Amino acid sequence: MSEDKEMVFVNKTGRWFVWDPCGITCAVFTYGLLVYGVIVKFTVVIPAFPNYLTWINALVFMLLVFLAITSHVKAMITNPGIVARESATEEEIIERNQQGENLKYCKKCRSIKPERAHHCSTCEHCVRRMDHHCPWINNCVGEFNQKYFVLFTFYVMLVSFHGLATIVVFFFFCLSTEFNGCDAWLPGPLIFVLMILGVFEGFLFILFTCTMFWSQVYSICTDETGIESIKHEQRERISWKEALYEVFGSPCSFSWLNPFVPPPSLVMYLKHCTPMNV
Ligand SMILES: [Zn+2]
Ligand SMILES: [Zn+2]
Repeated sequence: MSEDKEMVFVNKTGRWFVWDPCGITCAVFTYGLLVYGVIVKFTVVIPAFPNYLTWINALVFMLLVFLAITSHVKAMITNPGIVARESATEEEIIERNQQGENLKYCKKCRSIKPERAHHCSTCEHCVRRMDHHCPWINNCVGEFNQKYFVLFTFYVMLVSFHGLATIVVFFFFCLSTEFNGCDAWLPGPLIFVLMILGVFEGFLFILFTCTMFWSQVYSICTDETGIESIKHEQRERISWKEALYEVFGSPCSFSWLNPFVPPPSLVMYLKHCTPMNV
């Protein structure tokens, strides 16, 4: 138990952090890639074309980066829906099941495993409606933070499309002016390298986030998590509308896109929160 405790930090306000070196490295790397896009915007694009359209373009880009980073931080430090440990012994569960109940038991957590919960070996806890453990957000994707994860993939997808489109437009503008003024702040060869890296990063991010975003939307709408689809678990499903409301809140509104609005399950949890045995 004492060894397990070192892996995570959690408190009753719903804050949580996984001390996984691999996950922390991936999270920092993600921030680095987003900051790289901002640096290119301010050192290459704006100095070359310092007009109001470029500034509007930069502001939109900054807003998308801000929303992407906010969603990421929220996804990373929100308790994904952990189940309290040591809530029952195996003997108790066997006895209750013999009396007609149908309870699942997690030997690692020594607790009752609620329906749709799965044990994560990285977080060392059972997590409610666990979809998968994602090193890029250094956390599990579960009932309480799935909205933030979906928003993170959505905003990074928009940042990538925006960044890639800007590089293409920048290149053709420079071509039309025979590269006059395009190297306002930085030398031409360095700009070329930055652009190539930007295109590479943009394509990679688009590939990754499009795949993740649409697979998450599909998984929510079909009311089947990643783990359930792998295990072919059979159970009664709710409609796609109800499933979306469960993750993003009801009714459909702009709050779905707002990473500062917590998902309904997290609000409920925080309302009835008691100090947890973790
Ligand atoms: Zn467990
Ligand atoms: Zn996990």
